[in-house]
Amino acid sequence: MLWSLFKIILFVVLIGAATVGATYLLETDGGIRVDIGAQEYNLGALQAVIALIVLVVTLWILLKLAGLIVATIRFLNGDETAISRHFDRNRERKGYEALADGMMALASGEERTAITKAARAERYLRRPELTNLITAQAAEMAGDRKKATEVYKRLLADERTRFVGVRGLMKQKLEEGDTDTAMKLAEKAFALKPQHAETGDVLLALQATQNDWHGARETLGKKVKHGALPKDVGKRRDAVLALQEAKGIFQDGNSIRAREAAIEANKLSPDLIPGSVLAARSYLEQDNKRYAARVLTKTWKVQPHPDIAEAFAEIEPNETPEQRLKRFKALTKEHPDHPENKMLLAELHIAAEQFDKAREALGDLPTTKPTQRVLTLMAAIERGLEAPDSEIRAWLAKAVVAPRGPQWVCDKCHTVHADWGPVCENCGAFDTLSWSEPRETDMKMPGGTRMDALLVGAPDIAPDREMVAEARAEDHEALVGGSDPADEAVDVTPAEATETESKN
Ligand SMILES: [Zn+2]
Repeated sequence: MLWSLFKIILFVVLIGAATVGATYLLETDGGIRVDIGAQEYNLGALQAVIALIVLVVTLWILLKLAGLIVATIRFLNGDETAISRHFDRNRERKGYEALADGMMALASGEERTAITKAARAERYLRRPELTNLITAQAAEMAGDRKKATEVYKRLLADERTRFVGVRGLMKQKLEEGDTDTAMKLAEKAFALKPQHAETGDVLLALQATQNDWHGARETLGKKVKHGALPKDVGKRRDAVLALQEAKGIFQDGNSIRAREAAIEANKLSPDLIPGSVLAARSYLEQDNKRYAARVLTKTWKVQPHPDIAEAFAEIEPNETPEQRLKRFKALTKEHPDHPENKMLLAELHIAAEQFDKAREALGDLPTTKPTQRVLTLMAAIERGLEAPDSEIRAWLAKAVVAPRGPQWVCDKCHTVHADWGPVCENCGAFDTLSWSEPRETDMKMPGGTRMDALLVGAPDIAPDREMVAEARAEDHEALVGGSDPADEAVDVTPAEATETESKN
C-alpha cells in the first residue's frame, strides 16, 4: 500500500521534473559546444538531448557489432563454430523464453498456448526431447488424442525420451481398453525402467487380469530387486501370485505340482488365509494330517477366520462333536477374546448339543457385536434351550437387519467380495482384499428385504418394524437404478406372510 503510494508520488515528481527540465532547456540560449578535430558544432539544448540518445543507441549497436567481430576473428583463427555460436546464443535465449512460456501455459491450463510456444521453442532450440514433452502433455490436456499419439511416437525415436513415449502410448491403450497392446507396451516400458513403480504396477495388474501368474511373479521379483517395492510386501504379493498359480495348476489337473505350489505359497506368507487353506488341503490329499493341522493353526494364530476352521474340520471328517471340540482346542485356545473364536466355540458346542456352554462361549457378543452370524447362533441356542418360538423369531428378526460382520473388503474401493481373490473385481487393484468389517454404506442385504416380511407380527418385535422398514429403504437406495424386479416380490410377500400366519 505504502509502496504503491510512493510509486505514484515518484511518478508525479518525475513528470514534473521532466516538464521543468524541458522548459528550462528551451529557454536557455546556450547549448553544448562539441569540438571534433578542427570542426566545431554548436548544439541547442533540445538537440543536445537528442544527440545523447543517438549516442547511447550507437554505442549499443557498436557493442553488438564488436561481439560479432570478435566471433569473426575467432572463426578466422580456426574456431569454426564461433560465428554460429554467436547467433546461437540469441536463438537459445529466444528458445528458452518460448519454452518457459510454454511450461507456464501448461501449468496454468492454457493447452493451445502451450502447444504454440512449444513449436516456437522447437524452431529456435531444436531440442525435441524438451519441446515434445510439453506438446504431448498439452495435447493430452486438450483431449487431442491424435496429436498426443503422434508426439509420443516421435518421443520413441530418442533414447532419453523413449520411456515417456512408451508410457504415454501405454496409458492411451489402457484408456481405450486395448489391454493386449497395453500389456506389450507395459512390458517394454518396464524393461526400460524397472525401478519405475507405476509401470511395474500397471504391468502386474495387466498380467493378473490375464491370469499370467508366472509372468506376474517375474515382474514382482524384478520390482523387489530394483527397490521399487519393500521386500516384505514383495514376499506377501509373491505368495498371492504363487497361490493363484497353484490354483491354475490345480484346474489343469496337475495335482502334484499344484500341491507343491500351494505349499510354497503358504511358506512365503503363512498369514495368507486362502493360501493356508489350499496348502492344508494339499497336505490332506497326501494324507499328512499333522502338517495340515500345523499350517492352519499357524494362520489362525495370525488371524482367526471361518475358512481356516472349516478346513481344520476337514482333517477329521468323521469324528464325534465331542472329539471335534477337543481337537479344536489347538485353535480355540489361541485368541480367547476374538469374536471369531467365540463364535467358533459356540458352533462347536451347539453341534455337541451343549447349549448352555454355547451361550457362555458367545459371551457379550449379542450386545457388543450383534452380527448376522452371532444373532443366528443365539436363535439356535434359544431353540436348543427350548425357548418360546416368539423369542427365537425375535433373534432371527434382529439377524435380518444386523450387520454381516467381517467380509473380504477391498481396501481401495471398499467393494465387498464373496470370495477372496488376488485382484479386486471392482477397481482391479492387486492384493487389496482384507478380512474386515465393511462400511455401513457398502452393505447390501438382498435376502433381508424379503425375509423380514415373514417375521413381522411376532408380538415382541413390533418396535423392530421401523428398523426393518428403514433397512429396506436404505437397501433400495443402495441398489443402482430406480426400478428393480425385486420390488414386486417385496410387495407380494406381506400378503403371503399374513396367510402363513393365519394358518399357524
Ligand atoms: Zn477395489
